[in-house]
Amino acid sequence: MNKETTQIVKKLLASPQKILIVGHKNPDGDAVGSCLGLFYFLKSLGHDTTVIMPNDFPDFLKWLPGCEEIIIYEKEVQKSTNLFETAGLVFTLDFNSLERVGGELQKVLENCSAKFVMIDHHQQPADYAVATFSDVKMSSTSEMVFHFMDALDEAKKLSKEIAINLYTGIMTDTGSFRFSSTSPTTHRVAAKLIEAGAECATINQNVYDTNSPERMKLLGVALNNLVIMPKLHTAYITLTQKELDDHNFKKGDTEGFVNYALSVKGIVFAVIFIENKQESIVKISFRSKGDFSVNDFARNHYSGGGHINAAGGKSSQDLNKTITEFISILPRYKDELTHAS
Ligand code: 5GP
Ligand code: MN
Repeated sequence: MNKETTQIVKKLLASPQKILIVGHKNPDGDAVGSCLGLFYFLKSLGHDTTVIMPNDFPDFLKWLPGCEEIIIYEKEVQKSTNLFETAGLVFTLDFNSLERVGGELQKVLENCSAKFVMIDHHQQPADYAVATFSDVKMSSTSEMVFHFMDALDEAKKLSKEIAINLYTGIMTDTGSFRFSSTSPTTHRVAAKLIEAGAECATINQNVYDTNSPERMKLLGVALNNLVIMPKLHTAYITLTQKELDDHNFKKGDTEGFVNYALSVKGIVFAVIFIENKQESIVKISFRSKGDFSVNDFARNHYSGGGHINAAGGKSSQDLNKTITEFISILPRYKDELTHAS
């Protein structure tokens, strides 16, 4: 965090504040981990702090210290709205534009008179905050919360609760320290978090070894639906609403499926299309290797965005039309896909 932003934040936090911390819709490990890490940190500085998520988060995160205190906007609209009316400061974490909270909550945020602070690592940050700590090179927002504490000369406040939350966010957003966003500094931060009480084996088990039999069967269906297009170095997976329903789909169950498509030899671009009849959309996750930017691809064609190698978006066409359109777009990218890595 640069000196100017640090000074602004120091001033904002100089006296006790009513603070809300907000993550993005469909919160993932980094959204929940970074928000809860910051929650414990700001509480330790004497601020009245609450975490609000737009909607529920996956069961595999429901052991994180402090997660029971998170308010889910969808479930407690009135209580959340009141909190926004009285908040002095709103921290927005792990997203780059207010659209990412979705629905009514976006309007609540747009009309909120509190001062905003953004901590985020996505491309093209919007300009709504009085202090914007944005760094697209960072592995995760959770890593940034560690640097945020450090910049405020408060690394000594690193508690076991903070360490567990931040480690979980870093671990999940880097695919367990595999993606290219994992820097030497990421490992140094992880080491400090382990020293502060984050047990890596326990955290790994809590996050990854909680598969339900239904999820494993759904993975089987997803792998069976895998389509490989060798000439375009692309592989994609589809899941229909019926396939999800038949396997008692729960939030988070499809997390990581797209990585199997990316793990096929020679593939640099992987996509998963997931039908969501309730929202009348197809939710899409994009992953890539090398310099093929799925952030650009998602922005250009699917009202989405994210990072160079991991992004998301959606289509309001039905699943079949979405796939047909995707297949028709792809050849335009043949050169880029061929030279990506
Ligand atoms: P995932 O595919 O795991 O849902 O998301 C991958 C990355 O893309 C995450 O960093 C996530 O925040 C971002 N992302 C996912 N969906 C969307 C979307 O609809 N719009 C934008 N702008 N970013 C998204
Ligand atoms: Mn993130």
